[in-house]
Amino acid sequence: MTNKRILLKLSGEALAGEQNTGFSEEIVLEVANQVKKAIDKGIEVGVVIGGGNFWRGRTSQNISRSKADQIGMLATIMNAIYVSEVFSSVGLHTEVLTPFNVGTFTKLFSIERAHKYLSKGKVVFFAGGTGHPFFSTDTAAALRAIEIKADTILLAKNIDGVYDSDPKTNSAAIKFNEISLKEVIEKELKVMDLTAAIMCLENKIPMMVFGLNEKDGIINTLEGKFNGTYITI
Ligand code: UDP
Repeated sequence: MTNKRILLKLSGEALAGEQNTGFSEEIVLEVANQVKKAIDKGIEVGVVIGGGNFWRGRTSQNISRSKADQIGMLATIMNAIYVSEVFSSVGLHTEVLTPFNVGTFTKLFSIERAHKYLSKGKVVFFAGGTGHPFFSTDTAAALRAIEIKADTILLAKNIDGVYDSDPKTNSAAIKFNEISLKEVIEKELKVMDLTAAIMCLENKIPMMVFGLNEKDGIINTLEGKFNGTYITI
């Protein structure tokens, strides 16, 4: 394992499993056990979780984007609290940091706090996104990865890598083993939003995209037995 500090981005939908909403405790427990192995090997782990299993920017004639996004950010906090509890149950020490006050449920994010907890071997959940509407948790993951100086972002999704087209609608879609961030941006591939991709390009953060349903996917990725798509800088 060459990565010392990683940012693990878990999509909310991938955590929900087949039911598509809420959580699959089995999947979350499996993730917890893999993260435990990484921590035991001395890797520092920050986590960003999406909110798609509860809410994703649902605007309507009656609901503005800003308000819908506030609900989305709160969904990511519910996810972080749940997942951090499951992580604690396997013996991990965790902290949930948010960019705005959530009473006593979380602690306020600061880079100093994040460094302090990560270097103590705690898993740090960066919840609440960037704290601003019109952004995504992909962008929050890029931002926090840059701030904590992560070596890599591990992007765990409900698909096993980056394809040239949507494999759900095109059975001839081809999976990339490796692709550059520049190509992801130029081809507008749907692996992450453009803002996140540009931030990672500017700040030279590579990414490893893989399926959360792959057995030992996180550990395989860290140990070089990688089956997903490596996004190079
Ligand atoms: N969100 C936001 N600002 C942020 C991060 C997230 O407003 O910095 C909101 C936005 O409404 C988004 C929702 O939170 O739709 C859930 O995040 P996302 O769709 O990225 O979750 P994922 O698809 O990864 O589960």
